[in-house]
Amino acid sequence: MADALLIFKPDATYRLAVRAALWSWLASERDWKVESLAWFQPPVPLIESHYDFLQGRPFFPWLVDFMTALPLVVGRVTASADALKLMRYDLGETRIAQSRPGSLRERYGIFGGLNCLHLSDAPETGAAEVEKWSKVVQLDKVAVELETQSDKPDHTYRLRSLATQLAAGFHVELASRAIRELLAEESAIEEKSREALYRVILGALS
Ligand code: ADP
Ligand code: MG
Repeated sequence: MADALLIFKPDATYRLAVRAALWSWLASERDWKVESLAWFQPPVPLIESHYDFLQGRPFFPWLVDFMTALPLVVGRVTASADALKLMRYDLGETRIAQSRPGSLRERYGIFGGLNCLHLSDAPETGAAEVEKWSKVVQLDKVAVELETQSDKPDHTYRLRSLATQLAAGFHVELASRAIRELLAEESAIEEKSREALYRVILGALS
């Protein structure tokens, strides 16, 4: 059995219909088991180390902000190596424009690296990530109860359309405003954290 680290990124933690859909998939425990879930706001050095292989890439400062700006739902999954491969297949490719039609990221990811979930990509990386993260977050019990349904709307495809315009430099003001409005409808986040959510989502598009 392999251990894998799981992170609901901000675009999945706070967009409630998306979180419910992703949790439905995970909670099916088709070929895997969810061993833990906890709320945790990752500190900057942890994310810099977790993503050290991406240091120097132009999107790295955004990635660190994205993963540290807000409390996230973090967990551990156990699966066979083959089952982990299957989970990664269900998840889809990293960048949304390239994610396989029907995959979770194609269905719920907004744009670029706004791709909802982190899941360790192999038993070796899973073991290393779980070891590192278990020093700062409890990874041995399910301490968060997530819903499998939500009354909130899922605006993924409208968000993607607006994100595409914004990233291309078209209607920047209008598209930014519309994205904020749609995110507000999708979430139930307190006002003081809402600005951080907007910042990390819009930050992926500039
Ligand atoms: P994955 O999450 O599919 O395992 P990687 O480990 O390669 O992908 O990258 C980690 C995260 O960094 C991605 O999930 C994504 O959020 C971000 N990222 C990676 N490559 C890019 C890119 N070219 N543009 C924007 N964000 C990226
Ligand atoms: Mg990875």
